[in-house]
Amino acid sequence: MPVYEHLCEKGHKFDRYLKLAELDHPQTCECGGAAKRIISPVMFSIDATNFPSYESPTTGRWITSKTQRREDMKASNCVDYEPSLKDEQTKRIAREDAELEKKVDEHVEKTIYEMPAPKREKLAAEVEHLDIAVTRA
Ligand SMILES: [Zn+2]
Repeated sequence: MPVYEHLCEKGHKFDRYLKLAELDHPQTCECGGAAKRIISPVMFSIDATNFPSYESPTTGRWITSKTQRREDMKASNCVDYEPSLKDEQTKRIAREDAELEKKVDEHVEKTIYEMPAPKREKLAAEVEHLDIAVTRA
């Protein structure tokens, strides 16, 4: 259930759980002053009574509380999904691709360098007509 922060006309701040249907209801502070919702710092409070239980996909255990979820996640070396994780994954793959490409380039370079001169000249003649850019670092 979302918790909303309120500010009353006398300057008191308080948090109050509000159901969706109650969002428009006028709120009153403990001092009796009228209060209004400030910004929307929405938090979700999950307690044992309304925790959505589920079967752990990694351990098959039935998870019925936040504590069990935390332990199960830890035991199976999992973390909650966050969008930033995907960015990191994408960056890691790009980095690995770049490293692999560099290794291939270095290997090709080394192979060509170690070729006997006549073979290298023959190769150079063969690739001359190809539409590729040959660069040397
Ligand atoms: Zn007040």
